[in-house]
Amino acid sequence: MEVFLAKQAGFCEGVERAYRIALEQTRSGQQVFMLGNLVHNRQVIEKFKNADVITVKSVSEIPQATKGILLISAHGVPPEIYQEAKAKGLGVVDTTCPWVKKAQKIAQEFAKEGRTVVIVGDQGHTEVKGLLGWSNGKGKVIENAEDIKNITGNKIGVLAQTTQSKAHFQQIVSALKQKFENVKAQDTICSATSKRQEAAVDLARQVNLMLVIGDTMSANTKRLTELCSQTGTETHQIQTVSELEKSWLAGKAKVGLTSGASTPNWVIQKVINSLKNQA
Ligand code: SF4
Repeated sequence: MEVFLAKQAGFCEGVERAYRIALEQTRSGQQVFMLGNLVHNRQVIEKFKNADVITVKSVSEIPQATKGILLISAHGVPPEIYQEAKAKGLGVVDTTCPWVKKAQKIAQEFAKEGRTVVIVGDQGHTEVKGLLGWSNGKGKVIENAEDIKNITGNKIGVLAQTTQSKAHFQQIVSALKQKFENVKAQDTICSATSKRQEAAVDLARQVNLMLVIGDTMSANTKRLTELCSQTGTETHQIQTVSELEKSWLAGKAKVGLTSGASTPNWVIQKVINSLKNQA
């Protein structure tokens, strides 16, 4: 059995950056609070927990006048979070990925132009909640073309959660243009996501089995799994090596691997080692 790793796997530049900044803060001597999950990966979250970082679901959980730092995750937050942290006297260390920042700015500009801000993304995802906040009450989230029936307004601004697939976004933009006359579209999908998706699909077409390594919380991992499955190659998503099933490997000459943008290299390496031991 041969094992192939996709050209783009492991942390993306945005996650790498957030991870590095957060690690620096754990050495600052101050109490660090993490708002939500820094990235959607349980192994990374555990690592910060072991470094005494306290995860909170909201700023209100932190007592008034607590000395410390609030870490904003790579997925970004709505604008009011910065005000809430300031009011509590917390320092803010912002690891929002620059690609997400760009999408937030576009959402804000669309809202200022009086547009209904259509966000193509996963309902309830942290990044999407942040984008809704920057849309200043004018945001609507849609997951597929069917949801367009819920969109109203004369002027539309449409953008994407950074980890959507380009084909899906373009399909929704075309459908919006058929229904509305004034549609301004901005493709805010990050290049790390599109390159990773292209590399994964490319590899999936050349192997007999595709394994996508990443947390079930991770939107971009879910998307990779969908795209690899669509090639017709048997595809499974696993979070760690412990979820790898021997039966999948029977009769498979070529096994391809890819990972979500928030999957650490050490998790990928364990899967590679296990596959090589079974080869
Ligand atoms: S997947 Fe893209 S948007 Fe998300 S953290 Fe990585 S580089 Fe940033």
